[in-house]
Amino acid sequence: MALGLLPISCADAAPRYDAEILILGGGLAGLYLAHLLNKAGKEYLVLEGSDRIGGRMFSRDDIGREVGGRGIGDKYTEVMKLVKEFNTEMIDITDYMRSPTAIYTEGKLYGTWPDPKTNPAYLQFTAFAKSPQLTALDQWYQKPDFDEIYSALLKRNGLTEEQIDLANISANYNDIRETSAINAYHSSAFRKFNGSERVLNFKGGSKHFINSIATSLDNPVRTDKMVTAIDDRDNGVTVSCADGSKFRSKKVVSTIPFTTLRDVKMNLSLNDNQKKAISELSYTNITQIHLTHSEPFWEEDGAPVDMWTDTPLERIMNMSSSPTEKELACWVNGAGTAFFDNMSDKEVADFTIKKINEIRPSTKGKIGYLGQQNWGKYPFNKGAYVEFGVGQAAWFEDMIKPAGNMHFAGEHTAKESRGMEGAAESARRVFNEIVT
Ligand SMILES: Cc1cc2nc3c(=O)[nH]c(=O)nc-3n(C[C@H](O)[C@H](O)[C@H](O)COP(=O)(O)OP(=O)(O)OC[C@H]3O[C@@H](n4cnc5c(N)ncnc54)[C@H](O)[C@@H]3O)c2cc1C
Repeated sequence: MALGLLPISCADAAPRYDAEILILGGGLAGLYLAHLLNKAGKEYLVLEGSDRIGGRMFSRDDIGREVGGRGIGDKYTEVMKLVKEFNTEMIDITDYMRSPTAIYTEGKLYGTWPDPKTNPAYLQFTAFAKSPQLTALDQWYQKPDFDEIYSALLKRNGLTEEQIDLANISANYNDIRETSAINAYHSSAFRKFNGSERVLNFKGGSKHFINSIATSLDNPVRTDKMVTAIDDRDNGVTVSCADGSKFRSKKVVSTIPFTTLRDVKMNLSLNDNQKKAISELSYTNITQIHLTHSEPFWEEDGAPVDMWTDTPLERIMNMSSSPTEKELACWVNGAGTAFFDNMSDKEVADFTIKKINEIRPSTKGKIGYLGQQNWGKYPFNKGAYVEFGVGQAAWFEDMIKPAGNMHFAGEHTAKESRGMEGAAESARRVFNEIVT
């Protein structure tokens, strides 16, 4: 239903609304919810804080690279529904993902792990697999006995302190000596029960997919609407934005990450676990350094393109989804991101090129720096994805409950799935909560 936006006067006797439902955040969760409401003929309006839509699905035109979520599984239920509905062309990148990895450790480059038993990913997964696993997708937040420091589990299952240090360099967490094992249980259950066999990318980038959802909406997303306050009263909710604008509605759905929601002034009847989660929930830091190459340097030294390194660059990945693309990126997780946080762009570029040339002399004169994406410092997310600390999963059930007229969606509120599918799943859950 299209909206004619009316100026709102607080003095009005009968409350007037800009929309029945305000959706905060124009990432996948917000857009999918808007799409579902659009189809159901409901009044909605999406307020997005940045100057673009898509959130963590981000095709950066300035460097010609995808810097956020791009890979989906062929059995993702909700995302694949959208892919089909919008006739989105996909590229199967499964075989690229299985490509071997060169290793640079203690100053030496190897074409493969010198001893497979020193491979940190192998060590981590084999040690983790020795523990009893979840038997249902939504068990992860209901298993306090599984909620322990991840490194304690790995140690109990046979890893030495040295192997834990090695695994920590590029594990997808801030620090495996601090994070909860619950994250590994949840990811592993999602992989197993979702059962996807192929990894697909959006042809032409995630922006095509995101734009097709957004352009199907009767009410265009309002960008540059950074929410600063939410005031829930008996006669509706008032949302204030940084530019001074105000919007009123009967209900509000927040899809914004808790890292930024914690900066919003809220008059809401939140439960205790919601309050704790909004102020403390952890998110993983990721910094990517995007590169290109002019010649196939790997043909010169015979090692695989992908590299695992024990340097501050951590992993250097081939991000291309076809042989004609020339995408490389250093992917730095967790504590390692601090190394780059205070460097200028030029310092990051100089350090990266020099270090890769040192790791792999065949790259000299053949790689170029495009730009970096620091998700921990990106003001609209302040983190790449939710990462539960020990004790935080116990907040989950309360954390996603409606609080007065406010509902919670977004990847951090997904009960079963992770990533994009989690964001879409959460939008479907909230649609069912508010549309009766
Ligand atoms: C580097 C990286 C790689 C990833 N890779 C994958 C992958 O391969 N596969 C996968 O499935 N998932 C992946 N993900 C995760 C996936 O991208 C996210 O789970 C998903 O896009 C999250 O969608 P969302 O709508 O919940 O949140 P977001 O996309 O973050 O949307 C929230 C929106 O809220 C806006 N916002 C924030 N604060 C405010 C405010 N105060 N007022 C108004 N608006 C605000 C933000 O600008 C943003 O647009 C990746 C994420 C990252 C960062």
